[in-house]
Amino acid sequence: MAIAIRAGVLYDGTLDAPKRNVDVIVEGERIAAIRAAADGGSPDYAAACVTPGLVNAHVHLEMNGEPDVAVALAMTTQNQRLLRAVELAAKTLRAGVTTVRSVGASYAIDADVRDAIDAGRIHGPRMRAAGAVLCMTGGHGWFIGRSVDSPWDARKAVREQMKAGADCIKVIATGGVLTKGAVPGNAQLTLEELEAAIDEAHRHGLRVAAHAIGTQGIKNALRAGIDSIEHGHMLDDEAIALFKEKGAYLVPTLSAPTCILAHLEEGAQPQYVVDKAKTVNEAMLRNIKRAYEAGVRIAGGSDAGTPYNYHANYAYEVELMHTLLGMSPQQALHAATTVAAELVGLQRSVLAPGEAADLLLLPRDAGEDVRALRDVEHVFKAGACV
Ligand SMILES: [Zn+2]
Repeated sequence: MAIAIRAGVLYDGTLDAPKRNVDVIVEGERIAAIRAAADGGSPDYAAACVTPGLVNAHVHLEMNGEPDVAVALAMTTQNQRLLRAVELAAKTLRAGVTTVRSVGASYAIDADVRDAIDAGRIHGPRMRAAGAVLCMTGGHGWFIGRSVDSPWDARKAVREQMKAGADCIKVIATGGVLTKGAVPGNAQLTLEELEAAIDEAHRHGLRVAAHAIGTQGIKNALRAGIDSIEHGHMLDDEAIALFKEKGAYLVPTLSAPTCILAHLEEGAQPQYVVDKAKTVNEAMLRNIKRAYEAGVRIAGGSDAGTPYNYHANYAYEVELMHTLLGMSPQQALHAATTVAAELVGLQRSVLAPGEAADLLLLPRDAGEDVRALRDVEHVFKAGACV
């Protein structure tokens, strides 16, 4: 049974000119054809605007915006975290995010959630799952991570995540905002530990993401052969050159510091989080646009789950790529669909014949007003209306 979806304007995920007044024909899980809207025929669905489903390359499914993440997690059992992840996977999909990369979950619950989604037992996006983050003892994320303290231990930690079902790996190259005592500007896992983890993951065909805010840690991860730098806020010119030489992606998670700083009045966040977020935000506003303009590949990812940064609000990250980085709405959509999909590596997120039918029906033209992504009317994942 084919489904016809009429689009006033269709953005296919690339930077090609949008198509106007077309019918997208979906057969099974894939797009069979995109053709001029048929005269007289009545489509099964119609929308002012059709785009690919969004791809969020940086999420944490066991958290949903609690103001004090460390305390919230300390008060939560493994079972509660798993139930939370199941609930948030469904909310993510309903908000129009059809693919995510989970870059860190305790007990590797993200791998189990992914498998339950793929088996059709629960609702959620297509997923990659990193399992536990690999951090140094006492380093950023230790309360959900696997502590690693030598290159050989790094290899073993990668193997443990794979055993638990991980299909990508996350390493912690610098301090971070949400861990007390972890200084974002300081390098954490060493170059040798990063090289060992990345080599081990790559030998088995897994890509590696590095949490890296400080300058030296960003460069360590890039030199060690990382696939993507998460945050990257204190990058410098040498780091920009390394990004381009190595072909690594930058996932700037603009929402993370922005959401923390937008909620200071509530007074519910620890002071160390607020202080560090201010420093990181200044660096982000100075550096990320420069990297984009220099030609670093930017993939959309929001760090959903961090304070006030909700899984169902990924549209906000797309808006921030437009307003803070100077991307056009279509370029921001491209970063949050096709480019992020390249990095995640599950499907191409391009609306064309033969491609997966993951798409969004929107009430107005997202190329004119990117906020249209907040008002998704229908979500299709693998040809099925969610
Ligand atoms: Zn994160």
